Amino acid sequence: MKSTKDIAALLDEPACEHNKKEKSGCAKPKPGASAGGCAFDGAQIALLPIADVAHIVHGPIACAGSSWDNRGTRSSGADLYRIGMTTDLTEQDIVMGRSEKRLFHAIKQAIDTYSPPAVFIYNTCVPALVGDDINAVCKSAEERWGVPVVPIDSAGFYGTKNLGNRIAGDAMVNHVIGTRDPDPLPLTVQRAEIKIHDVNLIGEYNIAGEFWHVLPLFDELGLRILCTLSGDARFREVQTMHKAEVNMMVCSKAMVNVARKLQQKYGTPWFEGSYYGITDTSQSLRDFARVLNDPDLTERTEALILREETRIRTELEPWKVRLKGKRVLLFTGGVKSWSVISALQDLGMVVVATGTKKSTEEDKARIRELMGEDTVMIDDGSPRALLKIVHDYKADILIAGGRNMYTALKAKVPFLDINQEREFGYEGYQGMLELVRQLALTIESPVWEAVRAPAPWKVKTSSLVNRENEIVNTADLSSAKPSPEGEGWVTTARMQEVEQRREQLPRGI
Ligand code: SF4
Repeated sequence: MKSTKDIAALLDEPACEHNKKEKSGCAKPKPGASAGGCAFDGAQIALLPIADVAHIVHGPIACAGSSWDNRGTRSSGADLYRIGMTTDLTEQDIVMGRSEKRLFHAIKQAIDTYSPPAVFIYNTCVPALVGDDINAVCKSAEERWGVPVVPIDSAGFYGTKNLGNRIAGDAMVNHVIGTRDPDPLPLTVQRAEIKIHDVNLIGEYNIAGEFWHVLPLFDELGLRILCTLSGDARFREVQTMHKAEVNMMVCSKAMVNVARKLQQKYGTPWFEGSYYGITDTSQSLRDFARVLNDPDLTERTEALILREETRIRTELEPWKVRLKGKRVLLFTGGVKSWSVISALQDLGMVVVATGTKKSTEEDKARIRELMGEDTVMIDDGSPRALLKIVHDYKADILIAGGRNMYTALKAKVPFLDINQEREFGYEGYQGMLELVRQLALTIESPVWEAVRAPAPWKVKTSSLVNRENEIVNTADLSSAKPSPEGEGWVTTARMQEVEQRREQLPRGI
């Protein structure tokens, strides 16, 4: 189990802007607001995309259930990461002190059944509280079966999801990175005229396969990606990350400790960038050339940017006409709060307000740069607050994370999912085309007109009203008695007849 000192060290991250603020393992709870994931959730989210590893959650069944597969990350081959594995601890295991034994057997079962290149063990609250020594179990299992078994001590009560991301990154730096050298470059991909550079992407999760929009550009420029931590990654790739010439932090500071520690340990420089929008994609490619300081690469990068920007702007033109002037409320966090703004502005759309709940001061400064000093920044993400802004600023669409989907749909407001559960990839130049397509299809969907119109059965035409009156007026009241509601006088037989004739009336005319 981690000591208070270990947790304090993880929270003290000099490369993070929030570092000056008070350090606390727990998010300040606000009544009515969702608390977000626990440290275990954050650790698993960060590492689960390593596709060929057996990921075992050591704890009661609910821990695995609450976090498994909640990111739409894609793999180009191995799919072991999609099998949820847990030691499924019960009360009996805890009372009888059997949990370490169960973990040992779980590791054996995973290795016997799937022969993975490595096994990751995620510690959760219950075994951490009873004092299971997962480091010792992992070490002993590794010696017994000759397969790397990596302990990720991420009990939920240590703190927030963000802390969990750092715990995951720390585990990679301490146990995995640096344990193998990259394979030599195959002769078939070597090009006499250009120098191939090795690079890493940290915090790229390949949501909905979006990084595959960008990957061909790296191949063309002669940038070999040793590892994307962790989208579509393999264990053997993570092992080689120390050999990269430059690291890029993609769109998030979640695993910034990995970039900083690789710089400290191996001297690898790093920069932050994003692949959302034309401007940011071009800038990120330029930054690689700048940090690598290769004039030939710079020249080829500029030529590629010119070609791709010209192509994509031509292809975007017909869509821009359809989206021009449409008003957007953007509610997402972190780097996306500004990188998506620039993508939307590229399309001629108006961003009326943006969420800044998880944004740093640096993110906010960039938002002001893009949207002006008077821009509306939203911290309160409650459904009531979001819908008020949608109505006050006459937004045509809400772009936000999946948890806001029902808020928008219940209010009959068009909605586009921009966060990790989304179905479509928006990275790179090609991703912009997908983004405009989804925006146009969402805003122009005929469903909005249909759901906003009054329900057909609530619309009474004059002919329907006349026919209803006729039925009631022609009723035979000779054996009448008070109706159950005490209004009027009708016979039971006539009541049935009236009901039958009502049933036969056409609906919705
Ligand atoms: S808080 Fe603890 S018990 Fe709950 S999901 Fe996280 S690790 Fe499991």
